[in-house]
Amino acid sequence: MLSPRQLFLQHQAQTTDFPLLLEVEKAEGVYMYGPNRERYLDLISGIGVSNVGHRHPKVIQAIQQQLDKYLHLMVYGEIVQAPPAQLAHALAQTLPAGLDNVYFVSSGSEAVEGACKLAKRFTGRTELIAFENAYHGSTQGSLSLNGSESFKRAFRPLLPDVRHIRHNHAPDLELITTRTAAVILETVQGEAGVRVPSRAYLQNLRQRCSETGTLLILDEIQSGFGRTGTFWAFEQFGVIPDILTCAKGMGGGMPIGAFISRREIMHSLKNDPMLGHITTFGGHPVSCAASLATLQIIQEEGLLAQVAEKAARFQQRLTHPAIKEFRHLGLMMAVEFDSFATLKSVIDSALLKGVLTDWFLFCDNSMRIAPPLTITMAEIEEACDLVLAAIHEQVH
Ligand code: PMP
Repeated sequence: MLSPRQLFLQHQAQTTDFPLLLEVEKAEGVYMYGPNRERYLDLISGIGVSNVGHRHPKVIQAIQQQLDKYLHLMVYGEIVQAPPAQLAHALAQTLPAGLDNVYFVSSGSEAVEGACKLAKRFTGRTELIAFENAYHGSTQGSLSLNGSESFKRAFRPLLPDVRHIRHNHAPDLELITTRTAAVILETVQGEAGVRVPSRAYLQNLRQRCSETGTLLILDEIQSGFGRTGTFWAFEQFGVIPDILTCAKGMGGGMPIGAFISRREIMHSLKNDPMLGHITTFGGHPVSCAASLATLQIIQEEGLLAQVAEKAARFQQRLTHPAIKEFRHLGLMMAVEFDSFATLKSVIDSALLKGVLTDWFLFCDNSMRIAPPLTITMAEIEEACDLVLAAIHEQVH
């Protein structure tokens, strides 16, 4: 009988030169446990997913209750189901008035696909503008929007009429014109290594979009659901998107995504002979039940109010001559080293000491730190002790 590790290597597609090969049997709260009860403190939350921690009891309970009712029916075939209906309502309550129409999908990439299709359909325009170093997903449409050439090169030709402009660089906003269907921006760039735009820049971008009749799509797949200390990161910049995408932390560990817009914009997908957007599993009732519980946990446990203090403690503790920069918005954090080689040795050493960190797709000298928002101050001390011990060991 082959072990899970052997089966993994033999039969699962290998997508990285550096597989972690960390075997996990159970995860709870901020910890993951191996087959021999080894314990790892999870500082990446499944890439910004486990915002309320692994297996939060209320998420598990919501899933179990839904399991007793039904699994899959069909959402976009007009069957009314309580979990997506209630989740859509709850999401609308977190958003500015009017941003209250939700289209559920199954992943972040699919949310981006849907958002861009919606913008094209509503405006009747074709051009999409995205940003250098942006990450919006892995399907061919969302890949076209990514701002890293090395990720796209092998797959050309991709989506036509996509243009990239510089992030946080006001003069480039002139390139947004009445030809532009939508501008898509991560409110905080994630895979670029946590890049926070200025408030003034985001407001200028909003204004330019409004002037040209261009829809502003904010991608909060990584920054949403409390990660930055407000439910949505855009709340901190005084702007309101026309379309919002979310996924990842939304499901509390279950796969789900959504694009959200105003009713009159979403309406352009309706009664469309070419079918606006179609999905089989989008709005899966089990995922929606888990998501509704997640949203309630974030609000009821007062997690948002704790984010700033927790992030400040990480920033205070993670000082060392080897650390070049600490970038963050709330608990979406990046710790920059001088090179990938240094970072990799620190990540490997930290893992041996029992703490899981990572790098970013488009920023390989910076350590990704995005713990569950539920992490306690004591767990933050433990995490920082271990990361600092790894740095002391690896950097001379
Ligand atoms: N947008 C952003 C900002 C993301 O961070 C990601 C995932 N890293 C995606 C889109 C794509 O999401 P998914 O992997 O669920 O398709």
